Amino acid sequence: MSWVTVIWSMVASACLTLAAINLLVWSRDRRSWAHLCFSVMVVGVIGLAIAEIGTMKASSPEEFGRVIRWVHLVYAFGIVGSLGFVHFYFGTGRRWLLALAVGLRLLAVVINFTTGLNLQLRAILSLQKVSFLGEQVSVLGDWVPSPWVPLGYLATFVWLVYVIDASVALWRKGSTDSRRRAVIVGGSLVGFGVLTVGQVAMVVTGRLRMPFIVSFPFLGVVLAMTYELSRDVLRAGQLGRDLHESEQRMTLAADAASLGVWIRDLVRNEIWATDRWRALLGFTESEPLEIDKFLDRLHPDDRERVRRALAMAIDGDGVYETEYRVVLANGQTRWIASRGQAEFDGRGKPIRVTGVSIDISNRKLAERELLQRHTELAHLSRVTMLGELSSSLAHELNQPLGAILRNTEAAELFLQDPSPDLEELRAILADIRHDDQRAGAVIDRMRSMLKRREVEHSLLDLNMLAGEVISFVQPDADARKVRVTLAAASSSSSVHGDRVQLQQVLLNLILNAMDAVNGSAPDRCLVTVCVKPLGTQVQVAVSDSGHGIPDDKLARLFEPFFTTKANGIGMGLPISRTIIESHGGSVRAENNQNGGATLYFMLPVAGEEENPL
Ligand code: ADP
Repeated sequence: MSWVTVIWSMVASACLTLAAINLLVWSRDRRSWAHLCFSVMVVGVIGLAIAEIGTMKASSPEEFGRVIRWVHLVYAFGIVGSLGFVHFYFGTGRRWLLALAVGLRLLAVVINFTTGLNLQLRAILSLQKVSFLGEQVSVLGDWVPSPWVPLGYLATFVWLVYVIDASVALWRKGSTDSRRRAVIVGGSLVGFGVLTVGQVAMVVTGRLRMPFIVSFPFLGVVLAMTYELSRDVLRAGQLGRDLHESEQRMTLAADAASLGVWIRDLVRNEIWATDRWRALLGFTESEPLEIDKFLDRLHPDDRERVRRALAMAIDGDGVYETEYRVVLANGQTRWIASRGQAEFDGRGKPIRVTGVSIDISNRKLAERELLQRHTELAHLSRVTMLGELSSSLAHELNQPLGAILRNTEAAELFLQDPSPDLEELRAILADIRHDDQRAGAVIDRMRSMLKRREVEHSLLDLNMLAGEVISFVQPDADARKVRVTLAAASSSSSVHGDRVQLQQVLLNLILNAMDAVNGSAPDRCLVTVCVKPLGTQVQVAVSDSGHGIPDDKLARLFEPFFTTKANGIGMGLPISRTIIESHGGSVRAENNQNGGATLYFMLPVAGEEENPL
């Protein structure tokens, strides 16, 4: 039995198995280039093992020379494969060094096939037989060296420099894993390089009479790499288990928090979601999900908004946050709040959006009830304010009613005349109609403010609104000898809002201002309402020249029940703030430099294409 044949065949078949396994891994996951490079390298080692048997069993110098020629090709497979492995597995090597190492090795193969007998020998003159593993094998006897020998050494030297450089860079990364890889894989490659170069140099210089044995040290490299790759497989298994566990924990936590988790795969246009999410949106557990099916479930009024929010997350900053209604099969409506985050690949292309959804129907119900309470409170506050105004309003009503009475009496007198002046009577009737309309307008205004009603948003011109409120308080202002003026905005001052609620806010601010100037010198009894567009907002400022607000009270002005008035309730400003904030605006107060205070509210300006009512 030939030990050489047995051992070398075993090496070749073990390597074949490893090459096949790694090739399979690469074919399943085309991005695992390190596995492909490993397979290429191992194919080289198999070739080397076969060629080594060939040289040992060669019966003539010609046969020996032919085999050695092919050795350089399979050796190049091994070297290029190992370079590729280091490049992809370490991810730290210098590309130019890699290119140089590959280039020199390929050049060596070309020289090997085009000059002399092979890269190292120009001619083999004779063979010798030596005893190796209990049998007689052929080794080099006499030969003529090739002038290209240094090229082989240079290629190996650059290969070694690349491997050492990549290993040191990997070591410097500092983690235990990278240091172990650098030592095991990098160390085995360096050891192989030193051993091979040493042995080949000794044999071709005639200092050692033995067969070329490169496949054995190479096997050490194969084993070192296999060790690292199998550790990766073990780690992947562990990671898979950890992932499964963490997924279970996440689902448990999400379920406990009543959260539905979803992932939208933008590449495959699919949605994956937990059972809880499916239940929230009325999907069965096995129903395939996609974006259009999801949008179909939404309330028609919310569909477009959600579609836009999704598109904005993908095209914009990646954040998706929205609330929508879902119409269930039984016709019931459910409110859902959803938050997500888009993920992008290395080139900035969106690949998926991951998020959570939660049922907020109860919160929405509570919000509705709260709004209802606010509306009732606002109504109550209006009634109180109108109570304050009632005497002046009664006075305002008395005027037209008195005029009507006087005109009626005059008409009666005219009618006692046998031939009454019809022109005069017509004029009296016109006056009566005018006064009646004036009184009707006062009553209408009062009625609209006293009515218990739902909030109705429409497009409003704040200039007009301010004019209406000023004419409403005019009788009271006249009675208190306060001058209320309007500085209207010259350009657009349209906002979306509830007319009565915004009138209430302005009325409250003007009444407070009139209270503040109470008792001031006649020339300081002045209240100014100023409407001014400021960018995307419209600002309304109510300034007075009254006593101002003490600094320590300024911060508490909008707190409920904060009042400095003997008969005040302290709800006017908090209600005004609630109203303005529910309109998407803000309120603030400050003292004027020359005395008195100014209270501001700002509202978002409405689009210009609409006409204000
Ligand atoms: P009330 O008018 O019932 O006191 P408000 O909430 O409308 O309730 O006002 C709260 C307090 O804010 C007032 O009591 C007053 O002290 C202060 N305040 C409001 N407007 C002015 C103003 N223009 N000048 C000075 N103080 C003011």
